[in-house]
Amino acid sequence: MTMVFPPPPIPTLPVLGTSAVFPVRRIYCVGRNYAEHAREMGADPQREPPFFFGKPQDALVPGGGRVPYPPATTNLHHEVELVVALAQGGKDLSLAQAEASIFGYAVGLDLTRRDLQAAAKAKGQPWDMAKGFDHSAPVSPLTPCAQVGALQGGSIWLSVNGKERQRGDLGDMIWRVPEVIVQLSGLVTLAPGDLIFTGTPAGVGALHPGDQVCCGIQGLGELTIQIG
Ligand code: MN
Repeated sequence: MTMVFPPPPIPTLPVLGTSAVFPVRRIYCVGRNYAEHAREMGADPQREPPFFFGKPQDALVPGGGRVPYPPATTNLHHEVELVVALAQGGKDLSLAQAEASIFGYAVGLDLTRRDLQAAAKAKGQPWDMAKGFDHSAPVSPLTPCAQVGALQGGSIWLSVNGKERQRGDLGDMIWRVPEVIVQLSGLVTLAPGDLIFTGTPAGVGALHPGDQVCCGIQGLGELTIQIG
């Protein structure tokens, strides 16, 4: 088959402890999965079913590095998140199947044009342009489950220019990782290569050109970006 132009390359993430890379298929994100962050965004942290949005596959910034300040915003926000990478897929997964589907974990940044998100919320419009812009998904190399286990707790934090902005614990998630996977698998068929951003703890805030952002999760190392 001849293609009218060469297909785009598949984004990949390095895998710690190996020279192999993880090919990324889709990028899903969970909204409001930590009670304190839900409150800071003016929402009531009830245990309603989690809601999801997405980012384009090529929004991935593997390993961090320089990230351009995006257009059309004056309020770019950081959200540090645990990212789950799937090695198996399926639909309507059980909790046990969901746990078995996880390849590994990474530290991710759900970069957000907060002003566009607020305008979209006010008008009942979709979040795509607030969340899914170019370079909006920096993600660290993956740590396989074999190295870190089920990762039920541990600190998650972010600092800007050396000053701490966000700190939480993975154990404070409203919906735990396997529960998130179960819920998502009831909405779409998951597949190997899918990434899921699992929500951010409290302390989100604005970034400016020149800012140095460092974030990490206990057991998974760190992710650093510079805002261009
Ligand atoms: Mn988020």
